[in-house]
Amino acid sequence: MEIRIGLAGNPNCGKTTFFNILTGSNQYVGNWPGVTVEKKEGKVKGRDNVTVTDLPGIYSLSPYTPEEIVARNYLVGERPNVILNIVDGTNIERNLYLTLQLIETGIPVVMAINMMDVVRKNGDKINIDLLSKRLGVKIIEVSALKNEGVEETVDLAVKTATSDNVHLPIHRFSGPVEHTLAHIEEAVVHEIPEEQQRYLAVKIFENDKEVLKTLGVESDVLNHIKKDIKLCETELDDDAESIIISERYDYITKIVKECCKKVNVTTTTSYKLDKILTGKFTGLPIFALIMFGVYYVSVTLIGTSVTDWVNDVLFGEWICGGVSAFLTNIGCAEWLISMICDGILGGVGSVIGFAPQMAILFFFLSFLEDCGYMTRIAFVMDRLFRKFGLSGKSFIPLLIGSGCGVPGIMASKTIESDSDRRMTIITTTFIPCGAKLPIISLIGGAILGGKWWVAPSMYLIGVIAVLVSALMLKKTKPFKAEENPFVMELPSYHMPVMSGVFRHVWERVRGFIIKAGTVLVVACAVMWCLSNFGVTSEGFVYLGGENSDSSFISYIGSAIAFIFSPLGFGNWKCVAATLSGFFAKENIVATIGVLLSKGETVNTLLTTAVAGFSFLVFNLLNSPCIAAISAMAKEMNSKKWFFFALLYQNVFAYLVCLMIYQIGGLFSGTVSFNFFTPVAFMVLLLFVYQIVKKDRNKIQ
Ligand code: GDP
Ligand code: MG
Repeated sequence: MEIRIGLAGNPNCGKTTFFNILTGSNQYVGNWPGVTVEKKEGKVKGRDNVTVTDLPGIYSLSPYTPEEIVARNYLVGERPNVILNIVDGTNIERNLYLTLQLIETGIPVVMAINMMDVVRKNGDKINIDLLSKRLGVKIIEVSALKNEGVEETVDLAVKTATSDNVHLPIHRFSGPVEHTLAHIEEAVVHEIPEEQQRYLAVKIFENDKEVLKTLGVESDVLNHIKKDIKLCETELDDDAESIIISERYDYITKIVKECCKKVNVTTTTSYKLDKILTGKFTGLPIFALIMFGVYYVSVTLIGTSVTDWVNDVLFGEWICGGVSAFLTNIGCAEWLISMICDGILGGVGSVIGFAPQMAILFFFLSFLEDCGYMTRIAFVMDRLFRKFGLSGKSFIPLLIGSGCGVPGIMASKTIESDSDRRMTIITTTFIPCGAKLPIISLIGGAILGGKWWVAPSMYLIGVIAVLVSALMLKKTKPFKAEENPFVMELPSYHMPVMSGVFRHVWERVRGFIIKAGTVLVVACAVMWCLSNFGVTSEGFVYLGGENSDSSFISYIGSAIAFIFSPLGFGNWKCVAATLSGFFAKENIVATIGVLLSKGETVNTLLTTAVAGFSFLVFNLLNSPCIAAISAMAKEMNSKKWFFFALLYQNVFAYLVCLMIYQIGGLFSGTVSFNFFTPVAFMVLLLFVYQIVKKDRNKIQ
């Protein structure tokens, strides 16, 4: 017999860890709610007839979040043979709220109390037998992390699924509610199998629109039921949904009191740590210190030297040297050798050089995520972000985006509010990602005199760009504020599973390398051709690094350079470099290198500090690389919003740089008053107006 097991539970209770052990699969285990929004399916190892489905973490079967809808559609729609309810043993009370609802569906439930290793360490006690009796389900204690009890759980689940017992919930609501439920069952669902009736009746009582729609209840019957519900609401003096919620909680409180003995929470290590790590005055400074440490180690301490070695020695001398010697030997054409070595290998090498740096950065970020600190950061940042109309949850995408925009944008999935999520997707890539570091160091070193503040100020500008955008967009209709209290579980701290952290790092670095090996190879080859072939008086020629003014890229760049003149870099080389950033931001530096003629330096292209700064900021704030753009398209899931995002990013970048160059130049005396000076001041006024103007959409 085919058996389908549905894994259900709250976020972070260990479902995915459990699923991975069962199926031998490698799903991403994250200590961050919402990591699993889609469901995943797999066969249980060694039992070909048993399929298990890992559902997203949920707190309830209401239809309010994407996770809930996915889980509920699967459970109620496809009715697995048994629900394996994973429960976080360190937090039974909260987890049982979902358990009660799972039992109501009439699908056989087996409850696995997970994290027993932690429960035992804390010294908490759970009376399994009594709890099992009170809930009417089989219970087993496990630790997914330590792989304890997993086999037995599957046995139990299979046994429960194959037994013929009908599973009716034991829990009863108060008299008036049960009375109304009986009416509803009688009037609407009496023809549906008995074990499914109760779930539907409760949902109808709660006025769940989805269920009412699916059942297609006739309007006179519905009106009749509505009257019953109204009577019940009057009698209990509350609305139907709240009645159900509070009666469930009352019941849970009662049985938890009976069955669980918890040691005082305020003595746990997590609690003590949180006092400091999320404290009002200590939270932010500690976070800043930690992030500084992470960047110092991954970028300054290790990154630079490894990157230089990969660029100069590995790719420069060994690979390029070898390949070019080989190609010369077999008599390859000079232009082809140059294209492969200077164009492709050089370009790809300069990107691969960042892989070690990124690996280290990702290692720290996933370590912080898995041990539970990231959730705290979101919590701490929420206080600050709220002032700008963003939720603390927007902070994680921004933070991850400082490594790479692609996972950053994907992390925005967890933000419930549509407008917050869109805003986060639009603004995440304002934060400089790893690939923008080379351009920062190039411009910072060559034009801004290698000042120490250049790199930090780019991150600061990124953050300000995010906050200013939030402030301005929030006041427009489509982004108007929704009331969204910050609800996020703070999981207890724990030592991350190293294999998981390494897997995570590998996945990201692999993505990065694949990008380098595919998109970038093509992009480098195209850029190389565009800049090494051209039309001169002799017709179509190979320029061979000479005379790049006649190259195709120079024609393209020159044609649109006038657009960028008001920003201070209206020359075709800078424009071509900016365009090449579309493939990958790492390209920008490589392109500039390729395009410089003999004796030319970056300073010949960007003659003043203000122009250099403007060029740098434009390349930080404009649309991200193609990989991140496709992530944006996927997460926006709407053509309209996707194009709006692209438009916004580029227009915003343009206007900001217009102000930087015109106003900054005017004050530093390098740009004289011209047509664009008043325009820049107008833009500044508009920005200020939009920021300080009263928010009419705000919910009072
Ligand atoms: P999901 O959100 O329910 O899929 O939960 P995950 O499987 O992603 O696990 C959340 C976190 O709990 C991860 O950091 C796991 O390593 C950790 N975890 C899972 N099971 C156990 C366990 O039995 N004991 C302990 N101490 N940690 C666990
Ligand atoms: Mg999961």
